[in-house]
Amino acid sequence: AKDIKATILVKVEYFNPGNSIKDRIAVQMVEDAEKEGKLRPGGTIIEGTSGNTGMGLALAGIVKGYNCIFTTTDKQSMEKVNLLRALGAEVRICPTNVEPEDPRSYYSVAKRLSEEIPNSYYPNQYDHPGNAKAHELTTGPEIWNQTEGKVTHFVAGMGTGGTVSGTAKYLKSQNPDVKVIGIDSVGSVYTSYFKTREYDKSQVAPYVVEGIGEDILPKNMNFDYVDAVIPCPDKEAFLVTRALARKEGLFVGGSCGAAVWGGLEYARQHKLTERDIMVIILPDSGTRYVSKIYNDEWMRQNGYMDDS
Ligand code: PMP
Repeated sequence: AKDIKATILVKVEYFNPGNSIKDRIAVQMVEDAEKEGKLRPGGTIIEGTSGNTGMGLALAGIVKGYNCIFTTTDKQSMEKVNLLRALGAEVRICPTNVEPEDPRSYYSVAKRLSEEIPNSYYPNQYDHPGNAKAHELTTGPEIWNQTEGKVTHFVAGMGTGGTVSGTAKYLKSQNPDVKVIGIDSVGSVYTSYFKTREYDKSQVAPYVVEGIGEDILPKNMNFDYVDAVIPCPDKEAFLVTRALARKEGLFVGGSCGAAVWGGLEYARQHKLTERDIMVIILPDSGTRYVSKIYNDEWMRQNGYMDDS
């Protein structure tokens, strides 16, 4: 991106033990539950997860002695499901394209299991206050300190909203002028909600990028901390993801490509200058997407790449 004058930094989250940013919230939610007496020895953690939160919870469960049952959707990479099973978790795969309220949805199945199974705990990362809090306590201060308070723009994908809202809350408490850019997927309700503050179900459409965009409005998504929202199409997300691997040696997941694409779009649209320092969060590792984004045939079959 030679046309961009600002300094663009990325915060690479695959160095966490579970190789994603979600380790931060997993530990926070488990320790909150222990303190509140909601999780007792030998208990079972039940969560609906696209994979990364499950990885963090599974690791915490092993260390602390809890069983894990995860519900996920049939659009998630098999790598993620197999990783969770490798760590001893039970994984239930639910259909992607059903309403959140449908009893078959991964939200509903997680909730039902938590009601049926004794001594179980359902953190519900969408609404759990520990999610955004983990980022306010760790991600935000790290970015502030690592940039010596010079960060001017913060960019993060919006899934549950915990990363963008919690980190933004801390950064804006240090410097209210820090601009926060949330990256959405095309086919999510967030972009239109940000403009109108109204939930418009007609915006919901299938998309392939994992971890960002929603068909619900989670409590952790606080748009009061967000200054701009940029929706990223799947194709752009995946091509930038592959470019990050080849050009920067950053072997990362698809939401990372979306975040970088969105951050660069913002930098161009707003003509950021040499004085600007943008920090973009890269939530997870490319190892989880080898059969998809890093598979040329899959990219071609889905129309993201042509033969040339
Ligand atoms: N990218 C990936 C790969 C994720 O797993 C998640 C979590 N859903 C996000 C981005 C978005 O983070 P958050 O849930 O904190 O908004």
